Amino acid sequence: MCIKYYLTPEFLSYKRTFKKHIDFFGVQNGGVRKLSSKLDTLFEALSVVSEGCHIYLCDLKRDYSRWSKNAVEYFGLPGEYMYNAGDIWKEHIHPDDRDEYSGSIDDIFSGKSENHNMMYRSRTRDGKYVICTCKGIVLRDEAGNPTFFGGCIKNNTVLSYTDGITGLRSLYGFMEDVEVMRNRKLPYSILLIGMSRFSAINDVYGFNFGNDTFNSFGKLLIERMGHLGQLYKMDGTKFALISWKSDTNEIADIYAQIKNEVAHDFVVSGEKVVLSINGGLVYVNDFNSSRDTVLSCLKYTYYQSKNNKMGELNIFTSYVGDSSRRYIKMMNVIRNSVADNCSNFFLCYQPIINAEDEKLKGMEALVRWRNDDYGVVSPGMFIPILEQDPIFAELGRWIIRQALMDSKRFVEVYPDFLIHVNISYAQIERGDFITELLGILSELDFPPENLCLELTERCRLLDIGLLKNQFSLLKRHGIKIALDDFGTGFSSIGIIRELSFDTIKVDREFVRNIDSSTTDQKTIHFIADLADAFKAEVCVEGVETDRIRVVLGDFAINSFQGYYYSEPVVMDEFSKKYLSDN
Ligand code: C2E
Ligand code: CA
Ligand code: CA
Repeated sequence: MCIKYYLTPEFLSYKRTFKKHIDFFGVQNGGVRKLSSKLDTLFEALSVVSEGCHIYLCDLKRDYSRWSKNAVEYFGLPGEYMYNAGDIWKEHIHPDDRDEYSGSIDDIFSGKSENHNMMYRSRTRDGKYVICTCKGIVLRDEAGNPTFFGGCIKNNTVLSYTDGITGLRSLYGFMEDVEVMRNRKLPYSILLIGMSRFSAINDVYGFNFGNDTFNSFGKLLIERMGHLGQLYKMDGTKFALISWKSDTNEIADIYAQIKNEVAHDFVVSGEKVVLSINGGLVYVNDFNSSRDTVLSCLKYTYYQSKNNKMGELNIFTSYVGDSSRRYIKMMNVIRNSVADNCSNFFLCYQPIINAEDEKLKGMEALVRWRNDDYGVVSPGMFIPILEQDPIFAELGRWIIRQALMDSKRFVEVYPDFLIHVNISYAQIERGDFITELLGILSELDFPPENLCLELTERCRLLDIGLLKNQFSLLKRHGIKIALDDFGTGFSSIGIIRELSFDTIKVDREFVRNIDSSTTDQKTIHFIADLADAFKAEVCVEGVETDRIRVVLGDFAINSFQGYYYSEPVVMDEFSKKYLSDN
């Protein structure tokens, strides 16, 4: 087989950076070595130019492969160089497509087939499936012996670096450019802009008009912000700006003007359109933090603007009064701990007490993180950011597993014991959440009916159909579900009607002043009635004093939780208290 390759100066300089890997492919004899070195060069060249494609090359004799860096990052593979990559990749392929994939790969390895060309669904690092077209061919040496199997996986959801509607750089380009900015080691800002209720525009005027709206909005951004940096069309209704200017005030001023303008006076194809936009801005001057950490902070600040500030620009500054630089740095260390088998995380437990007899009913697992530089960090500091990060799934699994392992002893002593585990909407949103959960339960031989998942009202942001399905599946296995922090968000009653919760946990805000506030007393009374109507139990949080407990004694409440009984404590302390007196 004749392989043509072209080496431009850019490719040669790119290749130099990979020098240390040059001998990775085949070293058996001179001929193979020559071919290997050419292939290595070709591989690197193709990896650079293959927009939207992931390249792979496998040394058939050693079953040793090299995959392009973009594949490793996008799909969360163990590394660029892998033994037995076929089996590793198989794990990423949708279970329904696996047999066909295996058949095709077996044919290649047995020499039955020379090429592979199929479409399948493959799991990305954040647990979503994308449709890919995978093509590959067998390469032979001068004697005709098969030496390599190589090809590319085209991700059909990532078509190009340019968005077809607006002509702006795409999400894919954005990801690469953030990496470039990090490597420049100069401060930069990222602005994420998105639109609320855009589906109304599609519904009223149709999709073509919706596309025209994106196009006009993109043009407006170029006109007003083009001088500040590079603009992007992201996924959904979102746009972004990466700016090398360190003055965030100018970005904030222009954002405010645009927000006002599109809310009142924005014309698309002769029609006046009302757009409501949200914006989050991150200023980055810490270059050691990973791209994922920066992007989690960006998403977090964007959703703060959308959910809490009616679209007003939210500039990321840590809400603990630290500088955002220190905060982003800490988040990066915490993120690395997740990647390092969740080292430095630990769980504390707080008892949940039966209101009737004041006996132990269960406990809630509450995660913490600790290291020498930052001390013990509470979940409120890292969960909201980390749950924007695909890596959160790993921490979520660790929390569930640890909590179940710790509570097994209690289930043996208290048969109705409930271990409450907090679940973020980012976890339940993943298609394989329940499969994974059931897997952990069965692996630990833990009875599902002793597990209660706590979800906050933020889960209302998810598709209600998906949630209903997830709920009925969980219920079918006997797993209980609690609605956490009831009353702190909005549309609470709607969610209780739509989804059947076993328990409603009332936020501590409502009981702080319960002995003096008749409004709070009426509210608790109302919530207890409401829960009763939907056949749910009520647990009140924040029972800090004996006085609160006594006042609450008059209401139809099933369980209490709060500092009056115990603060969250480590397992050693918890078991001393609740296992020894049995
Ligand atoms: P939450 O689920 O509402 O947890 C209760 C929080 O209230 C805990 O704070 C607990 O320490 C605190 N608390 C308990 N009793 C009292 C009391 O009597 N008075 C007062 N003032 N506070 C009390 P913590 O541990 O800092 O957790 C904060 C939040 O972080 C949790 O709120 C939960 O939303 C989230 N979180 C904690 N652990 C996890 C986890 O494992 N996974 C997820 N997804 N989120 C978690
Ligand atoms: Ca909770
Ligand atoms: Ca709560």
